Amino acid sequence: MKYMKKSFDGLEAYYSKNLTEGIILNANEASYNPPKKIIDEYLDKVKDINFNRYPDMMNSSLCYSIAKRYNVKPNEVTCGVGSDELLEVTFRAVLEVGDRVVSFSPSFSMYKVFAELAGAEFIGVNFNSDLSFNIGKMIETINKYKPKLICICSPNNPTGQVLTLNEVERIIYSTDALVLLDLAYVDFAENDLTTLATKYDNLIVYRTFSKAYALSSIRCGYAIARHDNINLINAVKAPFSLSVQSQMLAEIAIKNYRLYKPLIEEVKSERTRLYNELKNLGLNVYPSEANFLFVVMDDKINDELLRNKIYIRKFANTKYRITIGSVSENDKLIEVIKSCVQQ
Ligand code: PMP
Repeated sequence: MKYMKKSFDGLEAYYSKNLTEGIILNANEASYNPPKKIIDEYLDKVKDINFNRYPDMMNSSLCYSIAKRYNVKPNEVTCGVGSDELLEVTFRAVLEVGDRVVSFSPSFSMYKVFAELAGAEFIGVNFNSDLSFNIGKMIETINKYKPKLICICSPNNPTGQVLTLNEVERIIYSTDALVLLDLAYVDFAENDLTTLATKYDNLIVYRTFSKAYALSSIRCGYAIARHDNINLINAVKAPFSLSVQSQMLAEIAIKNYRLYKPLIEEVKSERTRLYNELKNLGLNVYPSEANFLFVVMDDKINDELLRNKIYIRKFANTKYRITIGSVSENDKLIEVIKSCVQQ
């Protein structure tokens, strides 16, 4: 890459194999499609789009519907091409070269990537040995390194555990830095901390349509915060990034969020079933409030899953994240793991 700037030397493109067949449990996508009513309404509306025109660059109608859902003002919401875009834009808007970013570790891998792309130093705070959050260590690290950004992900990807309201507030109170609270998986959790979004002037909440809403394909995410922090994102974000089609489908989905309840409930009950099954098979599996489980197991089990075209996410030797699939997908997964363990 002869034209690449020096500071990006050795940078590799993010790569994830595009899987189209087999049992795909590696990307925390929903195992279900959006409810039929949502797709029908979209198909009905999509034909009336003015395809020759740019989309509404402020995503006004979608922001209005999100604001209504969470009881905030429309100017306290912004939307982007996945929460990825909104996170990346925030990093670019806030960080100067040499600044620091603190996050629990392991967490969503893009926090480190975005920090480094912005020329900042990334500092990870390890979990306790049972993968619970070490809040004391986090606050100590914040005091020591004085970061400009703090990323917290709850439920955390890939470990699945959640922070309590009190723990999140302790982190927010401990710092003047901007806290990014990533709630990508919160629809699968017991408590939704989105209501915190406009309570603090150093907080932005990030959410996505890619997980519980089963809309990974349309690449739509949103952020909620006080108007000033939303402006910070809007000032740096490329205009017209989110397509008319994505805005339209996301809006129909959020207006009909109640239709997702039975689908989410099934994920939760499958999560409990899978957790118990894997535990009974002697695997080291951790409690999770997300649509995935973090599991420590023999790598030979993954080899056997691969032979059966069951794809899960490997983080390191023996460390895996398994997305909760449909009932039949989970049955198959359990059957293959059982066959390995009971040999
Ligand atoms: N945050 C977390 C914790 C994630 O796991 C992901 C996707 N895997 C994202 C943000 C980005 O999601 P999207 O860009 O699809 O909204």
